[in-house]
Amino acid sequence: TKSDVKAFFIRNAFVIFTVAAVIIGIILGFALRPYKMSYREVKFFSFPGELLMRMLQMLVLPLLISSLITGMAALDSRASGKMGMRAVVYYTTTTVIAVFIGIVMVLIIHPGKGSKDEFTKQQKIEQISPADAFLDLIRNMFPPNLVEACTKQFKTQYAKRVVQVTMTVNDTIFTVNGSQAISREEMIPVPGKVDGVNALGLVVFSMCFGLIIGSMREQGQPLKDFFDCLNEAIMRLVAIIMWYAPIGILFLIAGKIVEMDDITTMGGQLGMYTVTVICGLLIHALFVLPTLYFAVTRKNPFVFIAGILQALITALGTSSSSATLPITFKCLEENNKVDKRVTRFVLPVGATINMDGTALYEALAAIFIAQVNDYDLNFGQILTISITATAASIGAAGIPQAGLVTMVIVLTSVGLPTDDITLIIAVDWFLDRLRTTTNVLGDSIGAGIVEHLSRHELKNKDPEVGNSVVEE
Ligand code: ASP
Repeated sequence: TKSDVKAFFIRNAFVIFTVAAVIIGIILGFALRPYKMSYREVKFFSFPGELLMRMLQMLVLPLLISSLITGMAALDSRASGKMGMRAVVYYTTTTVIAVFIGIVMVLIIHPGKGSKDEFTKQQKIEQISPADAFLDLIRNMFPPNLVEACTKQFKTQYAKRVVQVTMTVNDTIFTVNGSQAISREEMIPVPGKVDGVNALGLVVFSMCFGLIIGSMREQGQPLKDFFDCLNEAIMRLVAIIMWYAPIGILFLIAGKIVEMDDITTMGGQLGMYTVTVICGLLIHALFVLPTLYFAVTRKNPFVFIAGILQALITALGTSSSSATLPITFKCLEENNKVDKRVTRFVLPVGATINMDGTALYEALAAIFIAQVNDYDLNFGQILTISITATAASIGAAGIPQAGLVTMVIVLTSVGLPTDDITLIIAVDWFLDRLRTTTNVLGDSIGAGIVEHLSRHELKNKDPEVGNSVVEE
């Protein structure tokens, strides 16, 4: 009936607007392409999209910190320990599966076949052992300065750049040698590279802090209330931003389509590579994760996925899983009714360390670069790639194209030329969006699975927990 239709429309207004935004954005983008806007005009045009990114990012830090602290404080240490174990098992399993799919796909399809004719430059590079990458990962877990952790990640400086200055004073020539330590990643020119927040450090700190507050009982109550209230207030801001999100997404997508390079210039190897990544991500997102969800919960995974559609589209539009985090929270808590004690605990951690799409992509891309260079990888090297790809996905910040930067770790671990990252830059903006969507899907399904496995603990023995966390 008419009122049914109306009710359906109201209930699903956000999703309908968001899907419409994507469609209009694509049409608008292609319609404006022939006008060949200048870079600056594109920036003007996509301004509403840039605003959405900024609004979402603005909320991420307080949201991440307050949700983790309240989440941890609300659980007794036994419950959080068990839940944490389940989350870790889930993250590890899915990431390993993702890496595996990436490797199998690239070995079967072999997109790097043929001679490497489009690009010739090569550079000798020193190796960094994967140990360096792991140490940086662990260093980042313990930020010496919390304020700094809110603005950047730490990177060890592995190499030195030598600068020579020659000057002439009274006919005498002086030469001064200066050297400056630079990190490995700074040596690789990656356009549009952004320094992420050290989310890992903040996650570790907030979890510990929350646990301690929880264990302080009465004494910790003021802090618990404070962060609880902060969290609630941020979520209300998110609710407002959600109304603006479709507009932002429309312009983000349209702007990117207007700006992107001509598709016809794409070489054969690159085209095959793109197809391979897409196939791998689709298998993981539409087959592996839903099957896992069904196997554990016996519920329909696609109903679950429909509930988080808006988060998935936001991920597609922003290519940042951390900017999408506020929307992921809303979708899971409101549409899928996932317990807040679970989302607060699992989502911030997931958005930071669990990146299935990125892991799959990094392993696949590294092997692709090896194939292009006619470089035969032995089993040990493939194993090294899978381990470093996992580490690189954990270390990657949830920001656009972070995965491209952490690729350096994977490539150097097996002695592949890091310069060849330039081979895949042309299509990375697109693949980044797809892997970000996969990342967000993985985090969300993880929340569903952990909630299901933790249902006994969540039945709640401690009434205080219920009051402070579950909304009446
Ligand atoms: N953009 C991705 C994300 O935010 C990270 C990546 O570059 O793979 O999840």
